[in-house]
Amino acid sequence: MDVKTLRKTFEASLTDLPPVGMDVYSLVEDFRRYYSHTLGRDRHCQSAHYAYEALVLSLRDRLMERWKNTRYGYEAADAGHAYYLSLEFLMGRALGNAALNLGLDEETELAVSCLGMELEDLVENEQDAGLGNGGLGRLAACFLDSCATLQLPVTGYGLRYEYGMFRQEIVAGEQVEGPDHWLREGNAWELERHEYTQRVRFEGHTEWRRNNVGRKHAHWVDSHDVLAVPYDVPVPGYQNGTVNTLRLWKACATDEFDLGEFNAGLYPESVSAKNTAEQITLVLYPNDASESGKELRLRQQYFLASASLQDVVARWVGKHGGDFSDFADKNRFQLNDTHPSCAVPELMRLLMDEQGLEWDDAWRITSATMAYTNHTLLPEALERWPVPIFARLLPRLLEIVFEINARFLAEVARRWPGDTERQRRLSIIEEGPQPQVRMAYLAIVGSFSVNGVASLHSRLLTEGLFNDFFVLWPHKFNNKTNGVTPRRWLAWCNPGLSGLITTIVGPDWVADLSLLAGLAPQASDADFRGHWREVKLQNKRRLAQLVKADCGVVFNLEAIFDVQVKRIHEYKRQLLNLLHVIHLYDRLKRGDTENWTPRCVLIGGKAAPGYFLAKRIIKLINNVAAVINADPVTDGRLRLAFLPNYRVSAMEIIAPGADLSEQISTAGKEASGTGNMKFMMNGALTIGTLDGANVEILEEVGEENFFLFGLTADKVEGLRSHYDPAAIIAADTDLNRVMQLLECGYFNQFEFGIFDPILQTIRSPNDPWMTAADFRSYVEAQQRVAEAYKDEEHWTKMSILNTAASGRFSSDRTIAEYNRDIWKLEPIPPQNGTL
Ligand SMILES: *Cc1c(COP(=O)(O)O)cnc(C)c1O
Repeated sequence: MDVKTLRKTFEASLTDLPPVGMDVYSLVEDFRRYYSHTLGRDRHCQSAHYAYEALVLSLRDRLMERWKNTRYGYEAADAGHAYYLSLEFLMGRALGNAALNLGLDEETELAVSCLGMELEDLVENEQDAGLGNGGLGRLAACFLDSCATLQLPVTGYGLRYEYGMFRQEIVAGEQVEGPDHWLREGNAWELERHEYTQRVRFEGHTEWRRNNVGRKHAHWVDSHDVLAVPYDVPVPGYQNGTVNTLRLWKACATDEFDLGEFNAGLYPESVSAKNTAEQITLVLYPNDASESGKELRLRQQYFLASASLQDVVARWVGKHGGDFSDFADKNRFQLNDTHPSCAVPELMRLLMDEQGLEWDDAWRITSATMAYTNHTLLPEALERWPVPIFARLLPRLLEIVFEINARFLAEVARRWPGDTERQRRLSIIEEGPQPQVRMAYLAIVGSFSVNGVASLHSRLLTEGLFNDFFVLWPHKFNNKTNGVTPRRWLAWCNPGLSGLITTIVGPDWVADLSLLAGLAPQASDADFRGHWREVKLQNKRRLAQLVKADCGVVFNLEAIFDVQVKRIHEYKRQLLNLLHVIHLYDRLKRGDTENWTPRCVLIGGKAAPGYFLAKRIIKLINNVAAVINADPVTDGRLRLAFLPNYRVSAMEIIAPGADLSEQISTAGKEASGTGNMKFMMNGALTIGTLDGANVEILEEVGEENFFLFGLTADKVEGLRSHYDPAAIIAADTDLNRVMQLLECGYFNQFEFGIFDPILQTIRSPNDPWMTAADFRSYVEAQQRVAEAYKDEEHWTKMSILNTAASGRFSSDRTIAEYNRDIWKLEPIPPQNGTL
């Protein structure tokens, strides 16, 4: 046979490879081959890492064929596709989730035990993919899982940071950050796709040239280019054969960048240019809900937007040539906050400068494909880029931003003739001594959809921050209440409860969480409540082991496990929680112990390294914990622990073991919250304010199964002008005593004055978080909690009803709404390969 024929035979054989076995035996065989032949280890190898890696490779084979078939299905359907653009994807570990979603969880467990190992031990070898800060990044991860489960053609685009979210250690009560070099031992899940490398430009300037038909074209010249190399990560749907893609870009230096210096004998200098290029994806910015304002951050943002859009446009051109008439029909870009909103001017640039479209056509397409999700009302989180930085880094892009703004302001002027104040207010460019590009305004002007992430948050957006835009374009604004994936956050992380749920409602709840409603009648069944409590006790034991190991604090299993884990931020009010703990301690010291409910309080979360007060709050929590836990008066009654390095894999142990979920932000400040949903699914009760998605949680579960307290968002704003914390403290004996304990240095005997900045904010009439205002109401709610916990039958009933009412908070519901209102995609099943 000649080479051509052989090649044809080879290609044909690729399209009908025999399926990879899904039985225990095949898994065991593959595992042994990978371990011995691919990884080259033998029985003398002491490191469990290679066993973990052999298992990953075995599962990846099973993902791979489904991954291709999914792509064949999408390509054959030639239907719409959405792209989720996010600077953050907080994926956590992939192994357990992959096994579950492949329907191989039991087989994997068996195969591993056949080989004399425990699955749990192998799982522990996987580093969390911590490519995100908190809620926003974790939401992106949950969304990908739901898109795959709903078989929607959605691709995630992000950055492959070499260093993810920093590792947090606590040294002498203080946060110490360490680098998270999560790729050190490689990442067996990812697939490098060199063939789809893109080139991203920075700096340089624009030159206008006429083409052969006399049309003026912008050329971005003398730029410093960086290569974007894609690494694909498989995203399996739940037992449906679909595997979607998360494409993460790594920055690489171009080959030619260093020629001049190299030839001049300046080898080290040329290598330093390489480092500059590759710095773009070196490290995740660790700021949650606050902007960093650093040039490197803008580089990251543009790098993601440009590489991703070029990738999509190249695929389009490969298929349709220069015909963009259907592009807007077939493509959607969902912007996860303003971080990727350079996508608006970048798509304009690609369509005009590279594809030769006129402004109006390019704008029609761009503004019909972009959709923006807002994640916060906090003014300090609103991104603004100084015009001079933007001009130097992205000169061509800024010209386009100016043109978008000029045309937009002309529209404003037509609508409100002569209202120059309104034009100034709405301008994408904030004027002043230091002009700034307002990225949120750019995103709104360039998008056909703007959504908030919980019903209260979306309402506040239209009434406040974005009211001018709402008046102009009411049809753009909508709400999409967040959700979390029930695969990771219940089925995988809580096998005990999952099994119990399945005995009642059958197994289908994992892909249709509304079925959990079927649990509600069981709340009145004493036997079922007994089983429910047994499972909770097991999960509390696991959590207590984690706390013992990582904090050295012993939690008593009979006590209520009262948990607040989330990023440390003043608006989330870990301080309010702490004031209550100190109040309980004060009660113990005064002998007020009658009818005491034992309580173990767990707090965890990272503070942005530059956020002074947040870090000081961590120190205060640890100092208070040290004093309380060492005082015999608290024995068997009260414990406080700070869990270091809170992350996704820790939450998988925490949520199942919690009795009480603390969601106590100042009303109007938490956009949604998703931690609240994970706890609810796992049967914790919530103590919370009317903020974010708490409002909807309360709606679902009813006031009798929720511990509500605090001012409403409207009351918070109404109180601002005459807020008087000094008077509140003076009038409240308990709060006064707590403040005195703090102010006399009871918790910082040898660290004089270190908590003064915290105490000053509590006492300040300008305290934006109004901690003192909610203290009394919070303590009373906690008293109701303590009472309720003593009636274990009733508590269990409420716990069951919480899980039963959590169906709405599946990210499957959220994604179905994004698709119904924004993306309008058809679900597409995978197709056995013929492409
Ligand atoms: C869910 C989650 C969050 C978000 O928690 P909130 O309480 O909504 O702020 C943050 N970090 C991790 C690791 C999570 O799993």
